[in-house]
Amino acid sequence: MFVLEKIREYSKTDKTAVIYNDDKMSYKELEEASNAFADFLIKNGKTNAPVVIYGHKEREFLPCMYGALKSGRAYVPVDITFPADRLEMVLTDVEPEFFVCLRDCEVEPLASAKKLNVSDVQNIFNTNSNESVDEKHWVKEEDNCYILFTSGSTGRPKGVPINRANIENLAKYLTKWVDVEGNTDIITNQISFSFDVSVVSVYVGVALGKTLYTIDKKMMEAPALLYEGLEKSDLTFWVSTPSFAELCAVSQNFNQNMLPNLKRFLFCGETLTHKLVDTLTERFPNADIINTYGPTEATVLVTASKITKEMAEDSRPIPIGEPLEEVEFRIVSPEGKELSDNEIGELQIISHNVGHGYYKRPDLSQKSFFETVSRGENKRGYRTGDACYKIGNLYYFCGRIDFQIKLNGYRIELEDIENNMVKIDNVSRAVVIPVMKEEKVDYLAAFVLQTQKTDTPKLREITRIKAELSKLVPSYMVPRKIVICTSFPTNTNGKVDRKLLASQL
Ligand code: AMP
Repeated sequence: MFVLEKIREYSKTDKTAVIYNDDKMSYKELEEASNAFADFLIKNGKTNAPVVIYGHKEREFLPCMYGALKSGRAYVPVDITFPADRLEMVLTDVEPEFFVCLRDCEVEPLASAKKLNVSDVQNIFNTNSNESVDEKHWVKEEDNCYILFTSGSTGRPKGVPINRANIENLAKYLTKWVDVEGNTDIITNQISFSFDVSVVSVYVGVALGKTLYTIDKKMMEAPALLYEGLEKSDLTFWVSTPSFAELCAVSQNFNQNMLPNLKRFLFCGETLTHKLVDTLTERFPNADIINTYGPTEATVLVTASKITKEMAEDSRPIPIGEPLEEVEFRIVSPEGKELSDNEIGELQIISHNVGHGYYKRPDLSQKSFFETVSRGENKRGYRTGDACYKIGNLYYFCGRIDFQIKLNGYRIELEDIENNMVKIDNVSRAVVIPVMKEEKVDYLAAFVLQTQKTDTPKLREITRIKAELSKLVPSYMVPRKIVICTSFPTNTNGKVDRKLLASQL
């Protein structure tokens, strides 16, 4: 596999693979630690079950990921934002043989699985063979490389497996967009590994021999640390969601003086607003801005376009871009008729990037994935649920046709929150509404009905609901505002009138 071959090649140089605060990991260390982890899995594993890795940007994370691939196994990265309850659901679905816990975690895997903590992993790195792993063990073309768990409308996350062929196809078309500058490039390593935008750095960036500059949760939560880190990073290539750049742009010092060698911003995962484009264009006159678009189900991204002055000045939204060369887009009406320019419909993606469906969920897969012929080739298609229109070969996003949203780059099914809220004591119904500001979701608000009226003051009841909910869903899914109501307004179909509720905020 290209990225594993490249790590082996760079391990013979003195290149740095990853920078963590004041610590570094060379490509040689990355190669050897991942070989040792693969050696451990090959010698001790009885099955090829995926390896679940829980943590957040620790030094051991990447060697475990590449080690799993070298042993022929997929990995399942689970970020620390997942509460215990969700992590348990992932373990139940995946049934791993090995569960790597790089942070303290009380969750235990199924009886047959082995839990490895940081010291176990370090011990493996130090004692197992770090010799190159025979390629016959590596993941094969149709083998899964990773499974990412994303919000599911039933209240249970769903797994999206992506195989080696999907990633190789992505890399074939994405590499030219990431390959901006010689081999001293420094690229952001900010997105949690459980979100697929991180694949840009972890597969394409690493295959190009770049140095990954780590920006972890701790830095994100402390502006002084974040800016200090950015200041000394000497980044040349930026990949993130627009939300992260917006967070950085809060400081006026986030400009070309802070990152004098920055050549390119590549955004993915949510709406890129005119405001952010204008801010970055003004503050980073030497960097270009690339907008890309794609769902996890179609391997990270399927479009890319450089944002031109005309696009920035246009009254339309910033386009999500042109499909990559191999990708076909179809915009279809609810009846399945293909639409022409300027007509809004659901976007379908037809590409070798499209995965094979949800992990162990044929029911869900059948609804969203399909087989088709595109330009004379058999390919898979994916119904995105995104409402889009096109003008020529340029595509524009105009919202969802369902209840999935993006908040600060996180993909959330509003029904996932609603279905978890009703598990809370004394909550009988919940409706979650995204509150918009400047082209994007600003925050979530929830309207709640109680099973029984109580004398508890509303504020205390709201605090309790938030605390209970945060045990069930990641913190970014806990609505900022909760309103306790006595009834919900309904529309003529008898459904909850979400628009009317939203107007009450
Ligand atoms: P995820 O699977 O987390 O990458 O989320 C995929 C969804 O994010 C897409 O179906 C879109 O709704 C949204 N999305 C991704 N990229 C963009 C973009 N550039 N502009 C607007 N929405 C986007």
